[in-house]
Amino acid sequence: MWAFFDNLLNAILPPRCIKCGAVIADDSGLCADCFNEINFISAPYCQKCGHPFETTPSAGKMLCGRCMKNLKTPFRFSRSAVHYDEASKNLILAFKFMDKTDNAATLARWLNLAGRDIWAAGVDLMLPVPLHYTRLLKRRYNQCALLAAELHKLNGVPTDYTSLVKHRRTRPQVEFSGHERIKNLKGAFSVKHPEKIKGKRVVLIDDVMTTGSTLKECALALKRAGARSVDTLTVARVV
Ligand SMILES: [Zn+2]
Ligand SMILES: [Zn+2]
Repeated sequence: MWAFFDNLLNAILPPRCIKCGAVIADDSGLCADCFNEINFISAPYCQKCGHPFETTPSAGKMLCGRCMKNLKTPFRFSRSAVHYDEASKNLILAFKFMDKTDNAATLARWLNLAGRDIWAAGVDLMLPVPLHYTRLLKRRYNQCALLAAELHKLNGVPTDYTSLVKHRRTRPQVEFSGHERIKNLKGAFSVKHPEKIKGKRVVLIDDVMTTGSTLKECALALKRAGARSVDTLTVARVV
């Protein structure tokens, strides 16, 4: 019965490539041409921060130079699905600013695959990176919350949309570089319900990891609230 309705729906509204709009045979999200343009991050990569390696490192050295130096980071694991480049940029900007909210289902499938090390290590809660309420009113949706909701349908990990809040409005991060980015966000996030976070292994869901300062500020707030570990899972990252 459902197959009949599925076929009927596909005949009326055939699935389309979320990038170029071409009609596609299945609901994989992208046509073959657009899929080939996307630069997926695959092994080998640093086991901790997920930074992709050009070549396979020698046995036992699955950490990048930075992680080997044991630099202080609030993250247990970081993973991203794709490189942030021209091909993925348009897809993400359309999803974020131009109401292409249908893209969430495809992007969540990528997140689910990219996060396999995180699911294997065990995680209790997924938390989308929050927007300040004034930004949310303007944009009408939080793209990270949409990603988390779609991801929850795939992996069943509980999602918390309300505990982590951005209580201070900040200038867009693109206006700053380096240390200024960290300063811009300092103390902008807080945890409203610390009892829901205490002792939990949480994963932050975001669209793009640029320098990681947003995710770091969120992680520090979560650690202050007693989170046992914080991972990050983003659709794309600047490599
Ligand atoms: Zn396409
Ligand atoms: Zn690393």
